[in-house]
Amino acid sequence: MSRARLPILMYHGLHESADEPGFDPVYSVAPAQFERQMDWLRDNGLRTARLDENLPARHDGQCVIVSFDDGDATNRRIALPRLAARGMVAEFFITSDFIGRPGMVSEADVRTLADAGMGVQSHGRSHRFLEDLDEIELDGELIESKRRLEGLTERSVTALALPGGRGGARERAAALRLGYRQVLTSVPGINRGIPASDCSERIAITRGMGLDEFADLLQWRGMRPRMARLRYHVLAWPKRLLGNERYQRLRARLLPG
Ligand SMILES: [Zn+2]
Repeated sequence: MSRARLPILMYHGLHESADEPGFDPVYSVAPAQFERQMDWLRDNGLRTARLDENLPARHDGQCVIVSFDDGDATNRRIALPRLAARGMVAEFFITSDFIGRPGMVSEADVRTLADAGMGVQSHGRSHRFLEDLDEIELDGELIESKRRLEGLTERSVTALALPGGRGGARERAAALRLGYRQVLTSVPGINRGIPASDCSERIAITRGMGLDEFADLLQWRGMRPRMARLRYHVLAWPKRLLGNERYQRLRARLLPG
């Protein structure tokens, strides 16, 4: 079964400087860069949508989902006003235990995002990688994060972004059993012709990504999508061989950030 392409952009925090303490500089995007990317979407006739929207039957190539992972404080402070000024929406995947920690969104921020018409969704309770957990721990992560976010926003949490992008069939089945309707991965792609409509690929937006690269990835054309897939799969190999914990240590040594 194929479906229309629906690019899902994956952001984390928006910071002026790449040296934000405690933040992976690769995934820290400058606010001006984010604005240029949102303007590019608008100028190219793309509409930002919510995951729970019924997209028009002929939305192919017309809609895009903007998503943010983790719950960085800049989600509300920097991203929200820039989205609202353009009449755009995004989905915020928040790790519920991070709420209120230094540098992360507060409870009031989460409510503000939801009240502004943004989606608030789950990125786990503790950000532990779900495939490392036993079944009771896995269910706990999915149930408790959903409950806390729904309590704050008084809206349904229907989507899960896998912490670290890690997870497979077991994690997907647990999410669907526990009331989620969609699982977002970090597999690079624009969801064209993928087999399961409840499981989505995403495009990771990194610092210093130019508009050319942004456009190529959104339209999935040229060499860049192939490079993104290759990079993802090359990194997935040691992940499987080493286990997530050792992989994280290796990645920290091999990659900037
Ligand atoms: Zn994350």
